[in-house]
Amino acid sequence: MSALCPRGRLLGHLDGESILTSEPSELEAKIVAALERLAQALQRALWEASWRRGLSATQAQILVYLLHRGNERVNIKDLASRFGLGAATLSASASSLQRKGLVRRYRDAQDRRVVYVRLTRRGRRRAAQLALWTQAIEAEIAELDTRSKERLLATLLEVIARLQRAGLISVARMCTTCVYFRRNVHANPAAPHHCALMDKPLQLMELRVECPDHQPAPVPSGGNCSK
Ligand code: SF4
Repeated sequence: MSALCPRGRLLGHLDGESILTSEPSELEAKIVAALERLAQALQRALWEASWRRGLSATQAQILVYLLHRGNERVNIKDLASRFGLGAATLSASASSLQRKGLVRRYRDAQDRRVVYVRLTRRGRRRAAQLALWTQAIEAEIAELDTRSKERLLATLLEVIARLQRAGLISVARMCTTCVYFRRNVHANPAAPHHCALMDKPLQLMELRVECPDHQPAPVPSGGNCSK
C-alpha cells in the first residue's frame, strides 16, 4: 500500500492491498504518552527555577540559550525561531530582560533592522544559575548505561528531525537536520554517521543538539512520509 503513509495500524488486506487506519499504533501512543510525561517533568523543573528568580519560563530559556551560544552573535529572529515564537513576543521578553539588566540589545552596524541580544555580566551569572534547572533530571538519566543513552539521544534527534520536517517544531541546529549530516555511512555501529563539514565519523554520543556550524538541510520532497 505504497500510496499510504505507513503510520496507521494494519487492519487487514483487501484485494492484495494493506488496509491501514490513520490512528497511531498502541506502541506509538505509549511513546507519545511517555514523552508527554517527560515534557511535564521538564516544564515543572523549568517553571520552578524561573519563578524563584522572578522570570517567566521563556525569559529563563532565553538566558540559558544565550549562555550556551557563548560569544556567537544571536539576533531576535534567531531567538524567535529557536523558541517557536513571533518576533513581537520575543521582543517583549527581550525588553523585559533588558529592564532587569540581564541582557543588552544592540543593532547591527551595517543593517540597522537587525537587532542582537547578548547577556550582561549579571545576566551571565543568572543564566549560569538557571542552567542548573535540568540537574535533577540529568542525574537520573546518568544512571542509564552508555549504550542506552546513546540510542536514546539518536532516537530523540531523529524524532525531532521528523517533527521539524512536518512543521510541528521550530528549526533545531542539530545533526539530524543539518546539510552536512550523512546518515549511516559507516559500518561501525558506535559511529555510523558522518559530518561532511569536519569530514569525520560521528559517534552517537557526538551527535550535536546545538551546533554553531549547523546549516539547515532542505526538506526532502514527498512530505513527511518519504522516510
Ligand atoms: S556541522 Fe554540526 S550539526 Fe552539521 S553534521 Fe556537522 S556536527 Fe552535526
